[in-house]
Amino acid sequence: MFENLQEKLQRAFKNLRGQGTITEENISEALREIRLALLESDVNLNVVKATIDHIREKALGTQVATALSPTEQIIKIVNDELIEILGKDTARFKFSSQPPTVILMAGLQGSGKTTSSGKLATWLKKGGHRPMLVSVDVYRPAAREQLAIVAKAVGAQIYTGKINDEEAGTPLVLRLAKEALREARNFGNDILLVDTAGRLGIDEALMDEMKQLKAALNPSEILFVADAMTGQDAVNSADAFHKQLGITGVILTKMDGDARGGAALSIRNVTGAPVKFLGTGEKPEQFEAFHPDRIVSRIMG
Ligand code: GDP
Repeated sequence: MFENLQEKLQRAFKNLRGQGTITEENISEALREIRLALLESDVNLNVVKATIDHIREKALGTQVATALSPTEQIIKIVNDELIEILGKDTARFKFSSQPPTVILMAGLQGSGKTTSSGKLATWLKKGGHRPMLVSVDVYRPAAREQLAIVAKAVGAQIYTGKINDEEAGTPLVLRLAKEALREARNFGNDILLVDTAGRLGIDEALMDEMKQLKAALNPSEILFVADAMTGQDAVNSADAFHKQLGITGVILTKMDGDARGGAALSIRNVTGAPVKFLGTGEKPEQFEAFHPDRIVSRIMG
């Protein structure tokens, strides 16, 4: 039968009763279980190692308090450690003092960028903002069409511009982005949400275009959209985007699948950028501000 981490720890600590402090010997089995649980949840190996070291440090020499069982104490230490890694600064945005505030959506194709742009527009509208959407994917008419459908569904304004497919290339991307910015300013939209072109993998052309977009738009936020189901790949691409662009936050999508959520922990640890939102389904309202404790309880099983 499936045993959750709490039960495994209980087993690991069954011999501890009657001893004064937690020792190296009696936590080694517990640490092994925690290590496995983290790995099974897709937490990056380096992050697992660092986390385990911290937990060992905090746990060793801990007095076996009368109020809490050793298992409860270790669980509390693990919980606190994971929440600390994930951070508490979640869905807060940096707004520009000169509106519109630009939010650049970055990520690989299929990660959920367009869907999340619609979700974020809905969330922002609920908060009293007036977002305008634009897709600068001049390479895929279908991607622009998809954003137009999403915008209509959530009742958000969209700038489509005039695109001659033969001109597709970075200069057209930049022109479109600047036009959208002007349009948003003229219409009094306080936020411009820019859905960018995704690629199947990270390539130089994509990164170069993203860097030029960043320079042209001076975005307050660059949100990396990551598919939680892709585990370590999501962590690696977040790292690559962060090194080139400096991401300011993460939207972790497809959390309604059976991903355990370790990618959240790893991306945060590797990039330092907080996970701000979770996508929990295909519908615009299946989107929530990130709460570290929910991911932690998912990891703890
Ligand atoms: P993009 O290429 O990055 O713009 O990705 P899309 O927004 O087109 O999303 C790719 C697919 O993932 C679509 O079929 C979406 O409906 C789906 N999708 C996006 N976010 C979620 C989510 O949070 N949960 C689920 N189950 N599906 C999602």
